[in-house]
Amino acid sequence: VEDVALDPWGSAAVSDYRKLFEQFGIEEFEQILGDVPAPHYLMRRSVIFGHRDYRRVLDAMHDDDPFAVLSGFMPTGDPHIGHKLVFDEIIWHQQQGGDAYGLIADLEAHSARGLSWDEIDEHARNYVLSLLALGFDPEEGTLYRQSTNREVQDLAFELGIEANFSELEAIYDFDGETDVSHMQSVVTQMADILYPQLDEPKPTVIPVGPDQDPHVRLARDLAARVRYFGVTEAYASFEVTADERELLAEAYETLTDRNPEETIRCRDAAAYLESEREAGATDVTATTIDSLVTMLNEAGKEPLRPRVRFVDRNATEEAFEGLIEAIDGEKRVYDEHIDAFDLAWDAAEELAREVELEYDGYGFLPPSSIYHRFMTGLTGGKMSSSIPASHISLLDDPEDGYDKVKAATTGGRQSAEEQRELGGKPDECPVYELYTYLLAGDDDEFAMEVYEECANGDRLCGGCKEQAAELIEEFLEDHQEKREEWADKLDELDIEFDS
Ligand code: SF4
Repeated sequence: VEDVALDPWGSAAVSDYRKLFEQFGIEEFEQILGDVPAPHYLMRRSVIFGHRDYRRVLDAMHDDDPFAVLSGFMPTGDPHIGHKLVFDEIIWHQQQGGDAYGLIADLEAHSARGLSWDEIDEHARNYVLSLLALGFDPEEGTLYRQSTNREVQDLAFELGIEANFSELEAIYDFDGETDVSHMQSVVTQMADILYPQLDEPKPTVIPVGPDQDPHVRLARDLAARVRYFGVTEAYASFEVTADERELLAEAYETLTDRNPEETIRCRDAAAYLESEREAGATDVTATTIDSLVTMLNEAGKEPLRPRVRFVDRNATEEAFEGLIEAIDGEKRVYDEHIDAFDLAWDAAEELAREVELEYDGYGFLPPSSIYHRFMTGLTGGKMSSSIPASHISLLDDPEDGYDKVKAATTGGRQSAEEQRELGGKPDECPVYELYTYLLAGDDDEFAMEVYEECANGDRLCGGCKEQAAELIEEFLEDHQEKREEWADKLDELDIEFDS
């Protein structure tokens, strides 16, 4: 038997994605796994391999604070077992106490993929039924279609003010031929991502495949930009004294020259403000502004709101520009400053209340994301909606599901003898992936057993596929039964399926 590292969900499994960690700053999920309360098996098995800013969501879970999860589905075909990953991720977060959102990206399907509304209606219904059948609680969560959600449309319009063509061009491969509705569907997608925070800022996680990361990054940028927009509007007429202006000018210089390494001690500044409050200070004095600016220098990108709160818009237009640039530069150091940010934020909010300032912007927190590995197609290569043999649709006749597994490519050797001698290659086997992603359910021991037996040569592909095929047949039977039950109750839900 070859020397196989028995590490079915270890680092080897995510090696293809390693460059994402280096190039784009996606962090390894493994590093925070220990902090996740009762992690989902997709997390334990490194199917969910990366994240952006997910600690924020974990903190909320631990502190019993509000948080949300949202993902969308483009209804261009039948939901398949690859989509089930995302359904599971939404449902798990809902079970952890999150506000859960499942949306149907029908505008996108219509504008970007050219589907008719009749086709979209049918597919939308199928996605929703599978999500419900897998355990989504519609009483606690929210299901909606982009096209009928007025608040999302309005938010998309506001976000569109801040998004410009060249950045969409870079991210979405747009060119001069791209139609306007397609662009509109992109800002709608951004609005979807921020929608859970419309009433109240809260950590929000977007479970996606790594190919969706540029969208997440754009949404994080837009979240910051609309916050700025809201604040400048709210404080356009706020008067500042000459002293305060001078301090702000200094702050501007500090920010633009700022070296992220040279951090100033935020905690001290927050403590200082606290003591001022205790001493009964009620005015925004030059000194408190100075302290605030010090804190904000420390805290990185986030406290944009208080940072511009004391600026007279007309007098310091240039300063605003500089601040925004500086804030963009600070994104890089943001993660190191979460603690500092929390302190600064609380202190600044408190201070603002004292001087009776009202905030009137959106106040979005940048959305977080988690990334899952793609499933390999049953025929090898990528699993694709347009190649029926490559995937198992959640609507497949259970017997067809059985047949597809039986016909799947494996990581097996040329002959049974060779397999007994050398062991199979579970890391390269779509059937083993089926066990990990779905068939073993929550039973890690079972998944591990399949891996070990395969790698040791104790398991041969014929029997292994037979077992997997039977399990998928059972899964499909059970799933479709539950879909039937929900189909009868679908009318009671507040979602339209007739465009
Ligand atoms: Fe894949 Fe099972 Fe064959 Fe191993 S024994 S290569 S897991 S089908």
